[in-house]
Amino acid sequence: EGGGAMAAAGAEPAGPGSLAVLGPVPGAPSCPHGPALLFVKTSQGKEEGRRFYACSACRDRKDCNFFQWEDEKVSETRLAAREEYNRNHHPPFTHRQNVDRYKNFVMLPLSKRRFCQECQQLLLPAEWEKHSDHQFLCDITTAQLKSPSQLLHPLENKKTNAQYLFADRSCRFLLNLLRDLGFRRVLSVGTPRLHEMIQSRASQEEEFSVRSLLLDIDFRYSQFYTEDEFCHYNMFNHHFFGGEAARETCRKFLYEENGERVIMVTDPPFGGLVEALASSFKKLMAMWKETEKEGHDNKEMPMFWIFPYFFESRILDFFPSFSMMDYQVDYDNHTLYKHGKTGRRQSPVRIFTNLTPSMIVLPEEEGYRFCTVCERYVSSGNQHCEICNSCTSKDGRRWKHCVLCKKCVKPSWFHCNNCNCCTLQKHSCEKSAVGCFVCGKAGHKRSACPSLSRT
Ligand code: SAH
Ligand code: ZN
Ligand code: ZN
Ligand code: ZN
Ligand code: ZN
Repeated sequence: EGGGAMAAAGAEPAGPGSLAVLGPVPGAPSCPHGPALLFVKTSQGKEEGRRFYACSACRDRKDCNFFQWEDEKVSETRLAAREEYNRNHHPPFTHRQNVDRYKNFVMLPLSKRRFCQECQQLLLPAEWEKHSDHQFLCDITTAQLKSPSQLLHPLENKKTNAQYLFADRSCRFLLNLLRDLGFRRVLSVGTPRLHEMIQSRASQEEEFSVRSLLLDIDFRYSQFYTEDEFCHYNMFNHHFFGGEAARETCRKFLYEENGERVIMVTDPPFGGLVEALASSFKKLMAMWKETEKEGHDNKEMPMFWIFPYFFESRILDFFPSFSMMDYQVDYDNHTLYKHGKTGRRQSPVRIFTNLTPSMIVLPEEEGYRFCTVCERYVSSGNQHCEICNSCTSKDGRRWKHCVLCKKCVKPSWFHCNNCNCCTLQKHSCEKSAVGCFVCGKAGHKRSACPSLSRT
């Protein structure tokens, strides 16, 4: 975009309150990441100010500065400039070209197989010159080509695109679980490491019959997979960058030929936008449903949505048929979530699924046990509460029941009589959502209470 858009971006609503996504709407303008999403600033649940379009994939203006007011009149010249800009912001090679390059690359002797670390690209000998002052890796083995998630460096954009790769243990657990459940096809949405594990086992073991299709916005993966194995996809607006052909690849994959059952596994960035994700996942589910004439008897496409436990209520808002499993998903490159050598760091990341919870068998050797009342596997620390009649812990620690709140709460909480609920020991009562400590009304703190200003 030209300077006009930059200026508009500067006028973007700022300050407290939060942003709500009004969704992917028909006729939305596009940026290089596909159709933009319509947003509005909200304050206490109410819309405030002008609605605007912004990039669906990048929350950092540095990565994509697309911005347009909903009611803004965009001139023909600016529209043309925008189209030109979108065209020029394609990756250097197409997926097709990358597939051909790969074919040439694997025919090279080991000594000629280089990977440019700066450009994150496999290099053919004719291109060495151009990258001569870049860092590169030599002697790229077939094993390395089969583990692109190890070769590529994880994207680190803090705001939305950080890539957190499954620890081997968690990845193997997921794969064994879905195999035990009888699934033969995995739609891997933002799970390159699971995809890679499936691909490499399928190429090595004859009796391994699971297949995977990776949908991800990280186009670097197109260097390693064919168009039948990878689609460049944006999960915030359900956009297939490869157009109708890519969409068709996905549709074909979802069609359960020879009774090969499909499951979708997704591990989206945690930066929020749950409503945008849910809207895309519903479209993928609809795609699955349409592949079957009988419409799958009102069934939903089986799904694992991997996400932090504190998003539970948000996810259930959109998918009431889902439940949260206690299994803690671990990551390699996430310092907070990864298992320590001594004692275990608790990961907040869980599996949400529409499969029957009792079918999701969690490993007893890692401390999970089956609760016969709840009919699901739970963390060892998760005690069944007789009063709630459920295993209530969300974070794996033992929670305690509060008779006043009539529910179980975190072990570190206590019941505050001012706030009339359980909360952290250290808190200021006036901040409570219940309302002002003095008059009980919401919307102001004790220090600003109008009933005190009379004095
Ligand atoms: N744990 C997973 C990786 C999760 S990180 C694994 O090990 O396989 C989040 C993934 O989502 C990354 O692969 C990232 O490239 C992808 N992603 C981020 N934003 C996306 C978007 N808008 N559309 C599709 N994929 C996206
Ligand atoms: Zn380079
Ligand atoms: Zn229980
Ligand atoms: Zn309880
Ligand atoms: Zn309480």
